[in-house]
Amino acid sequence: MMISGTTRILGIIGAPVAHSRSPLMHNRALDALGLDFVYVPFPVAQERLSEAVAGLRAVGVCGFNVTIPHKVAVVPFLDRLSPEAEQIGAVNTVKNDDGILTGFNTDGTGLVRSLREDLGFDPQGAKIVLVGAGGAARAAVHALCTQSAGQIVIVNRTVDTARALAEEFSELFPKTVLVATGALSTRHEETDLLINTTSVGMDCVSLSADPAVLAAGAAVYDMIYAPAETPLLAAARVRGLRCANGIGMLAAQGEVAFTIWTSVSPPEGLMKAALVGRI
Ligand code: NAP
Repeated sequence: MMISGTTRILGIIGAPVAHSRSPLMHNRALDALGLDFVYVPFPVAQERLSEAVAGLRAVGVCGFNVTIPHKVAVVPFLDRLSPEAEQIGAVNTVKNDDGILTGFNTDGTGLVRSLREDLGFDPQGAKIVLVGAGGAARAAVHALCTQSAGQIVIVNRTVDTARALAEEFSELFPKTVLVATGALSTRHEETDLLINTTSVGMDCVSLSADPAVLAAGAAVYDMIYAPAETPLLAAARVRGLRCANGIGMLAAQGEVAFTIWTSVSPPEGLMKAALVGRI
């Protein structure tokens, strides 16, 4: 990669951002296509978000990803939102068109693509248990409802947040049955898929949702990708259930963002291969 006077800048803002694998996968894809862009990490503290967005606009970066803790907080500093980002209320991708900043949310699309590719799972009509009600859960519920999921049981430690999410999206998507609860107490024999959207498991702590409540044909998806096998996925594997971690979602949301910025699709499978160290 040669940086010259014409090189265009992409990046990611977050706090922390040093652990992010997005620079690796985006730069590999830019290189492979010979595009004159570079993707760089920008550590941005919470209290400096407005200055950072103004600075990125001022220097004319082409676009940037947004990660924890800025996905919701960045919204007031943007000029426009895609319909998905507007309904989800959070942004993970920003495109700069001559100083006009548009926010997108590609997490939900990334999840649905990964469910299809990594688990062979089609959400249409499916019965899903989704643990968590934060930003990632909102994107997931939005995408699963858009794909006509039959029923989603939202399980969250703070049950009021789950209730509010279920009520809000029930109005937008009346064909999907949305239910909220504070714990998975009974067996969920009819559940087709359990998804963890919380950060529980990153530190190898077990999630309270146990795959033992599922029937043998169910699948388990954990949005966490480091560690590659959380206690939830280990328990699912021991039970012989189909399971996948969030690496496919990370790659797929990145592919959509890459195309938004460059109008070119990255080579198929390249970002995921970069993430798992195959290239
Ligand atoms: P968030 O908005 O902060 O939401 C966190 C959620 O986790 C909330 O529902 C919270 O429950 C729950 N939670 C946190 N600690 C808990 C605990 N000790 N016990 C039970 N529940 C707990 O975060 P987010 O943006 O949704 O991200 C969540 C996870 O998704 C992170 O691990 C992130 O890396 C991952 N993610 C992965 C991808 C990917 O591409 N693979 C994309 C986006 C996000 P309360 O409401 O009760 O606080």
